[in-house]
Amino acid sequence: MTLISHWIHGREHSGAPGRTAPVHDPATGRETARVTLADAATVDHAVARASEAAVAWGRASLSARTRVLFAFRHLLATHADELAAVITAEHGKVLSDAAGEVQRGLEVVEFACGMPHLLQGGHSESVSTGVDVHSVRQPLGVVAVISPFNFPAMVPLWFVPVALAAGNAVVLKPSEKDPSAAMVMARLWREAGLPDGVLTVLHGDKEAVDALLTHPDVRAVSFVGSTPVARYVYETATTHGKRVQALGGAKNHMLVLPDADLDLAADAAVSAGFGSAGERCMAISAVVAVEPVADALVAKIAKRMGDLRTGDGRRGCDMGPLVTAEHRDRVLGYVAAGVDAGADLVVDGRLVEPDGDPEGYWLGPTLFDRVRPGMSIHTDEIFGPVLSVLRVASYDEGLALINATPYGNGTAIFTNDGGAARRFEVEVEVGMVGVNVPIPVPMAYYSFGGWKSSLFGDLHAHGADGVRFFTRGKVVTTRWPDPSHGGVDLGFPTQR
Ligand code: NAD
Repeated sequence: MTLISHWIHGREHSGAPGRTAPVHDPATGRETARVTLADAATVDHAVARASEAAVAWGRASLSARTRVLFAFRHLLATHADELAAVITAEHGKVLSDAAGEVQRGLEVVEFACGMPHLLQGGHSESVSTGVDVHSVRQPLGVVAVISPFNFPAMVPLWFVPVALAAGNAVVLKPSEKDPSAAMVMARLWREAGLPDGVLTVLHGDKEAVDALLTHPDVRAVSFVGSTPVARYVYETATTHGKRVQALGGAKNHMLVLPDADLDLAADAAVSAGFGSAGERCMAISAVVAVEPVADALVAKIAKRMGDLRTGDGRRGCDMGPLVTAEHRDRVLGYVAAGVDAGADLVVDGRLVEPDGDPEGYWLGPTLFDRVRPGMSIHTDEIFGPVLSVLRVASYDEGLALINATPYGNGTAIFTNDGGAARRFEVEVEVGMVGVNVPIPVPMAYYSFGGWKSSLFGDLHAHGADGVRFFTRGKVVTTRWPDPSHGGVDLGFPTQR
């Protein structure tokens, strides 16, 4: 059985002998490896090595750092298929979807290649007689990135390239459910010329996370995961004096107005509801249909669902398995709860005949109609292939329903009415909004982040916010000796 080790100071490191966790292939149910789980002593050791490496890396020239970024970009592009295969083998998402997440991560690397420009400060000459001011942004030191299972390559790539290009050392703690993608990327960073110690991969669970959140030499934490853990990470790490951005869970609604192109809306609902088996933080899990279109829309969605093939992601299927047996069973619990609560089960994914090993963690695309606010299939983040349709009488009722949810990650409106779309854009309390676009994930040069319980902290991921998050500003006021300005003056400095 393969043991997946940590990556410390540029090489594999098994850590202290101790706890391990199983890694499964979700399409077969077989245990394919075990991953070592870091204890506090291993975290200490890794952060010490990272702190040493951070000093020289933070002072390396911008061109030396960006040269590594450009080399990594090339290596990531040439190893994209290999990385996608590793993702599919541990996460279960179909190969084309895995390749898509590598591509979106690659775009953040390309953004970070422009770091010399992004770090440019300002300069004001003669703010007072003979006095100049300039501003710079400097790296923080060692920063931690803690990522979820659902994007084992893309979510680390939201943060790691930006943090490294800005001159920080990064300790990445990927999900213990699919840890191998992080190891592939660590090797590529080394091959790209990143000095040893500047990137560390530590595997682990709560014990490792807690050690990072409280470690005095970790300056900032970028976390992505479920809302309860995000809230805990934010509270714990800020209490320990760290800068934190903690991205949490989601419940994304798609509002369909009566004038919408219903075929476009149905295509979008199916793609965004069932891609990656619904295990995306930007997945659409609730369609809000403004009457009188609900009957027609539900029929179109159900018809498209009939054409989806669920199965092993390596066999050209549309939708893969869920990540673990426990998670599949949890999602099954929501399907049962929806039936019990009186929602109409239009398509029952429990009856799926998967193209894959019977031991895989299967659940087919599932559609509920006439879901009402308050049912658990509407209030909770299910994170599976379960789409709910809620029927409302008006735009206002739909908007109120969306704004009443505690999450605010993504949303979309489907309409041909520009005025209605503009109203929605202004009025909806959600961080990322699509107009006739179901999964409005911002490009790398914009920032990714939700509102309310979908993000704790002030700054979003990548784009301008990412650069600000991984640097701190300094303003330097300079005067070179000039005899005309001599003399003591106890007054508050003002311009002269
Ligand atoms: P998770 O919260 O279970 O785990 C996320 C990370 O936290 C993992 O590295 C895990 O090891 C660690 N962790 C888990 N429990 C912990 C605890 N009690 N204390 C400290 N650390 C702990 O999330 P997941 O199941 O891996 O990922 C799915 C969740 O992530 C969903 O809720 C999804 O919406 C969310 N997500 C959000 C975004 C976003 O951008 N907002 C993006 C991707 C995923």
